[in-house]
Amino acid sequence: MTNIILLGPPGAGKGTQAGMLVEERGMIQLSTGDMLREAKDSGTEIGKIVADVMARGDLVTDEIVIGLIREKLQGDKKGGFIFDGFPRTLAQADALGELMEEQDETLDHAIELQVNDEILVDRIVGRAAEAVAAGGTARADDNAESLKIRLMAYYKQTSPLVGYYHAKGMLQGVDGLGTMDAVKNEIAGVLDA
Ligand code: ADP
Repeated sequence: MTNIILLGPPGAGKGTQAGMLVEERGMIQLSTGDMLREAKDSGTEIGKIVADVMARGDLVTDEIVIGLIREKLQGDKKGGFIFDGFPRTLAQADALGELMEEQDETLDHAIELQVNDEILVDRIVGRAAEAVAAGGTARADDNAESLKIRLMAYYKQTSPLVGYYHAKGMLQGVDGLGTMDAVKNEIAGVLDA
């Protein structure tokens, strides 16, 4: 069983790649962003606390996201976990290491999807426009202002994890600018090595 972390800024393609790994390898996607949006949509206490922070583009507290992840690590582990959008801070990374140890699990790879900022803006603005064109609504944080804050949060709080996992010998960089399939194949190369 392989457990991986997908690292990369908003719009890098973490969710897309995680979805394909779930389909093809029976892995379990743990996206804290999805969990928080679910909490918000179903109006739970946590959902009420996080709604404004998320819409603004800031990070919610470590305590909340660590709590969400802790719950999910107990059950069936199937083909292994994909951590998508978690950890996002050094404190979360330390906590994840401890939680995995408690479960007698190891983290195998931290896969960094490498992209540039221009493509991120295009992808996210495009994703919002597509959602609206399809008759739905865009994510509350898929707008230029929140995106700026999300990118800043990434560089300030999350990008140090690249060094953190490099130091642990777990970091694998993948070119996130290729087609969906090209990125998928590069990730497969890491997983099947
Ligand atoms: P993206 O990668 O496109 O920014 P996500 O769906 O991963 O989107 O996250 C959306 C928002 O949810 C973040 O901007 C943040 O407010 C919150 N969030 C998600 N995961 C975390 C986390 N691990 N720590 C703190 N906040 C988080």
